[in-house]
Amino acid sequence: MSEIQTLAEKYLANTYQHFPVSIVRGAGSHLWDDQGREYLDLGSGIAVNSFGIADPQWSAAIADQLGKVQHTSNLYYSEPVARLAQTLCERSGMEKVFFSNSGAEANECAIKTARKFGAEKGRFTIATLHNSFHGRTLATLAATGQDIFHQDFLPLTPGFVAVDPEISEVCVVHAQTPLAAVMIEIVQGEGGVNLLELEFLQALADFCAEKDILLIIDEVQTGNGRTGALFAYQNFGITPDIVTTAKGLAGGLPLGATLLGKKVAHVLSAGDHGSTFGGNPVSCAGALNILQRIDDQLLAGVREKEALIRRELTGVPGVRGISGMGLMLGIETIPPAADVVAKCIQRGVLCLTAKNKVRLLPALNIETSDLLSAVRILAEVIRELDTTLDQAA
Ligand SMILES: *Cc1c(COP(=O)(O)O)cnc(C)c1O
Repeated sequence: MSEIQTLAEKYLANTYQHFPVSIVRGAGSHLWDDQGREYLDLGSGIAVNSFGIADPQWSAAIADQLGKVQHTSNLYYSEPVARLAQTLCERSGMEKVFFSNSGAEANECAIKTARKFGAEKGRFTIATLHNSFHGRTLATLAATGQDIFHQDFLPLTPGFVAVDPEISEVCVVHAQTPLAAVMIEIVQGEGGVNLLELEFLQALADFCAEKDILLIIDEVQTGNGRTGALFAYQNFGITPDIVTTAKGLAGGLPLGATLLGKKVAHVLSAGDHGSTFGGNPVSCAGALNILQRIDDQLLAGVREKEALIRRELTGVPGVRGISGMGLMLGIETIPPAADVVAKCIQRGVLCLTAKNKVRLLPALNIETSDLLSAVRILAEVIRELDTTLDQAA
C-alpha cells in the first residue's frame, strides 16, 4: 500500500471500500495514478466529470470566476448564479431554481416543497419506487426504496411509501393515503441501471396531473446529457412538476439544483429554505460552461456512443444483457460484476458496478477511439472470467 492509501485507511471514516488506485492527474478520459499507470475512465467519478478530467474550456471558465469572486452568500446577486438559473429554466421548461451542493440536498428541497404544497390539502406522503436511490440524508434515505440502506438507521423519517412501478399500485396507495407527490428516477442508477417502462411513465404523469399530485423526477444521475437528452424526461414527452439534478451538472464541482415547475414555482417563500454554499459562483460558472456544450451535436454523439457500446458487447460470451440509456448503461454479466471491475482496473480500465451489473458512465465527450479500446478490454475481461463455456465443454 502506498503512503496515501495507508493514511486514508487509518484516518478516513470506513464508509467506502476503496479500489487500490490513487489518481493524481488526468486529461479527458485518460487518468494516471501515483505509480504512473494510465487508465481509461468509463466511470467519470460516478457521472460527475461530464467532460472528463481537467477539460481546458471548463477549467478556464472556473479559473476566470475564481479570479473574480469565489463566494458572496445568497444574500447578494451574482451573475453566474442568475445566468445558470435562466439557462436551466429555459432548457427544462421549469420556472424557478433552488441551488444546493449535492443530489441529496436537491431532493431535500423537492421534499420540502412537496410537503408545503400538500399541507393545505392535508397531504404529506410521498411515494417512491422500490429499488430507488435518492440520497443519504435522513429524509432522502427514507425516500430510498431499498431496505439495505435503512438498516441500522431507524427510525426512518415518516411520510414516505415505497411502491412497485405499476400504476395500479400508485392508485391503491393514493386511495389509502392521499399523496402529495410521487418521486421517481427514469433510469434507476444505484438500483441497477433499470429504465422505467414508457407506459408506466405516461400513466403516472397522467394520474399525477389528474389527482393534483406532484411528479418529482430525480435526475441527479440521468440529467445533464447523460441519457442523450439534456434531462431524461425529455426523451419521453412528459412534464414533471419538480426536477432535481446534481452529479454532472457542474462537470466536477459540487452543485445541486431543484427545478420548480409552474405548479410549485411560488410554493417556497423567503426564509423557507436555504444553503450557505448552495449556488456557489465558481460551481455555477462551471455548470454554465457544461450546459452550453450539451448541444444537439453532443447529445447525438451520446446516442452514437451508446450504440457503439451495445454493438461491441452484444453477443460477447459472459454478457447476459445490457440495460439503461445513453451513456448510462448496465451490463449484466455471468461472472460477478465486482470481479469484472477488479480485473478491468488491472487492465487499465475504470468502470463501476450497480447491484449485479457492471455500470458504465463515461464522459459525454469521450473520444470514440478511447471508448472502443476500453469497451474491447471490458469485453475481453468478461469473456475470460466467464467459466460457463469451460463447464459446457
Ligand atoms: C447520486 C444520487 C443521489 C445522491 O446524490 P449526492 O450528491 O451523493 O447526495 C440522489 N439521487 C440519485 C438518482 C443519485 O444517483
